[in-house]
Amino acid sequence: MQLVRQKEDFRRGGMPKAPLVLVAGLVVAALASGCAAEDAPTGRHGGKAAAGAQAYGNDAARALAGYSAQLKEAQAARVTAAKKWKLAKVPLAAPAPPAAKPKITNRPGFETDGGDSLPPVFTTVPTKDRIVFLTIDDGAEKDPALLQMMRELRIPYSAFLSDYLVRTDYPYFKRMQGLGVTLNNHTLNHRYMPGLSYEEQRHEICDQQDKIEKWAGKRPRLFRPPYGNYNEDTLRAAQSCGVKAVPLWAAEAFPDHMEWREWDRDLHPGDIVLTHFRGRGDWKGTMPDMIRQVMKVITDKGYAVARLEDYV
Ligand SMILES: [Zn+2]
Repeated sequence: MQLVRQKEDFRRGGMPKAPLVLVAGLVVAALASGCAAEDAPTGRHGGKAAAGAQAYGNDAARALAGYSAQLKEAQAARVTAAKKWKLAKVPLAAPAPPAAKPKITNRPGFETDGGDSLPPVFTTVPTKDRIVFLTIDDGAEKDPALLQMMRELRIPYSAFLSDYLVRTDYPYFKRMQGLGVTLNNHTLNHRYMPGLSYEEQRHEICDQQDKIEKWAGKRPRLFRPPYGNYNEDTLRAAQSCGVKAVPLWAAEAFPDHMEWREWDRDLHPGDIVLTHFRGRGDWKGTMPDMIRQVMKVITDKGYAVARLEDYV
């Protein structure tokens, strides 16, 4: 059963992004050169426009075949890594991300008086695909095993960092970033935002924007308020320094259990899953233990993990 689903997802996850980018690249290259294929005296790009189109078709086919081979290789690596890291099941492969990101609006009941002009607050990304997003908060535990495990399993995730916890080891999070993880904003000191003035919130949020940009080289687009608590000032402050969206979460993962926001205690397409950088001192296991637990839940329910920043 699992294998069948794996294969189906794998096929479905097949094409779009990479090949489209490649194909777009080919088209752009052809346009930029006034279609070099037409001028080529000999070889496969031979003399006529029609032949140029034919060659373009072949290039696209080759790009598709190459991408398909890459996907196969990625899934083979995932099988090996799942065994090595003792996952109950091999994680499912996510479908290619959409060409255009979905329009994200406030979760009903989560709006402020600021209305739609402020960054949206949401717990689920609109999609029909059986995907969820993994987000890891704070930054207390800096376990090298997590980086290795996620790299080998090829599971995407996003980090939401508080400076007072990560500043003891920026290089750890730089390594994480180097492995494709986006570093997002979770304030300087993890304070309760609604208890602060607008100016204090700006300090907590915007100074963390500046800090992350300084040590990581990239200004965050996403912000998550500590404890998920915010008011209109929070969203105004965040917007004032470049925050585009405020993803909260629909479920929270621990090494030994899940906690759910929704009444049905289940996952739904596009749900954002929260967890934390914590170790044995804070909860009942290691970071790899937590990943094993949450991936078992996600895979058992037939979901794959996709990359939040591909959708938001
Ligand atoms: Zn937090």
